[in-house]
Amino acid sequence: MNVAPEVTPIPCLKDNYAYLLRCPSTGQTGVVDPSVAQPVLKVLRDKGWGLDCIFNTHHHWDHVGGNEELKQQFPSVRIFGHQSDEGRIPGLTDGVQDGQVVGFGAIRGFVIHNPGHTTGAITYVWGDAAFTGDTLFAAGCGRIFEGSPQDMYSSLHQKIGSLPPETRLYFGHEYTEKNLEFCLDVEPNNHKAHVLLKEVRKIRSEGKFTTPSTISQEFATNPFMRTKELEIQKRVRELEPDADLSPVSVFRVLREYKNRF
Ligand code: ZN
Ligand code: FE
Repeated sequence: MNVAPEVTPIPCLKDNYAYLLRCPSTGQTGVVDPSVAQPVLKVLRDKGWGLDCIFNTHHHWDHVGGNEELKQQFPSVRIFGHQSDEGRIPGLTDGVQDGQVVGFGAIRGFVIHNPGHTTGAITYVWGDAAFTGDTLFAAGCGRIFEGSPQDMYSSLHQKIGSLPPETRLYFGHEYTEKNLEFCLDVEPNNHKAHVLLKEVRKIRSEGKFTTPSTISQEFATNPFMRTKELEIQKRVRELEPDADLSPVSVFRVLREYKNRF
């Protein structure tokens, strides 16, 4: 069934999001990136639901930290992650690879392998909803811890970037406000980013979430998706006068600048 699950964002730790999923036709449930178990267990209790599957986007502790405690509560839970993360995702039962069909209940979707933040980073796509972890954020992208700028660029542009424009992107951290401030530093005349930053500040002041974004919003306001823009290329030249202006090189300079922004 190529439909999206029902999605409930669960804020965890300082700025992480876990996402509770439910199949509308069978009532089966899943959770994406439970950094800690308690907030997830509380929502499950409130709703009176069990837990069938855990979907990890990568092995970092703030995405898998709740796996073991959730497994204690729900011993038959299946735990998904990239097959190369066997040994570093606690309790992994279902190692998956690029393009593999993955689902729960009556929902079927697929996995995108998008290395760069880590070598085993993946995105889960179900219907018009995608869960990108720390690879693509609203107006930003993850740090390149494992892999090269070329890896991360391809993951964002060729892989995630080829999803339909209306795809909803559920990302791993609430970094949107800071990311848009960075966007306006490197592309001061991005009108859509100015408008979005105003909206985002209002949303955050009300204690609400900026997740999800969409693919089309990212192509409009995410500097890492806009390496062909002349204003961004001009800024890259200021930051690194010798840089060539190929898309990957522009991406690399932006990413290094963001690390110290
Ligand atoms: Zn991470
Ligand atoms: Fe993270």
